Amino acid sequence: MELSDKAEEILERLGIGIEERDEPYLELSAFEEEAAIGELVKFGYVLIKGDKISLSDKGKKEAENAIRRHRLAERLLADVLDVRKKILNEMSCKFEHLLHKGVEDDVCILLGHPKVCPHGKPIPPGDCCREDRAKPRKLISSLSELQTGQSGRIAYIHTGEREQLQKLLAMGALPGSPISLLQRFPSYVFQIGHGQFAIDREMAKDIYVRLVKV
Ligand SMILES: [Zn+2]
Ligand SMILES: [Zn+2]
Repeated sequence: MELSDKAEEILERLGIGIEERDEPYLELSAFEEEAAIGELVKFGYVLIKGDKISLSDKGKKEAENAIRRHRLAERLLADVLDVRKKILNEMSCKFEHLLHKGVEDDVCILLGHPKVCPHGKPIPPGDCCREDRAKPRKLISSLSELQTGQSGRIAYIHTGEREQLQKLLAMGALPGSPISLLQRFPSYVFQIGHGQFAIDREMAKDIYVRLVKV
């Protein structure tokens, strides 16, 4: 039996609440949907103690999967379908339910195993991110994995370091900019507009390129 969309959303909210607040229990009163809560209790995903609610171990895993689907849906909508940030969340909430088990890994592979959602929140890794299976065709790839001469548009930059990000932005490496890789060795040389820039492999890994039509 599958969880209802409502129950899945509550699971996700619990998972996010616990991730952000670092508290194992949340106030039960914050969750109004009684039927959906009942469903989660029946599945053994949540534990209720007085006016507190928390996730069981089984529930934690499910919540992580729900968060993964939501954030992958956001990435897919933002990077591949160019959906604007304003309506991103609303659309992702509907879209994530379409990414059922198995499908989310295909989306993850397609997007090059993104580590963060468009809001910078971590995407929990799936099996596909751990094992490097035969590589299917990607839509998004890091610059370090491009062939010489390959081009696309910058999808997003993934770096935890401010300094690196500023360097890349100063080179004009903005999401949406056309980019082509001119050389891979001894350093990565790429072109944006009329400018050519050399960076090391570590920095090249931080630039994610959307390979479909330039
Ligand atoms: Zn997000
Ligand atoms: Zn993956």
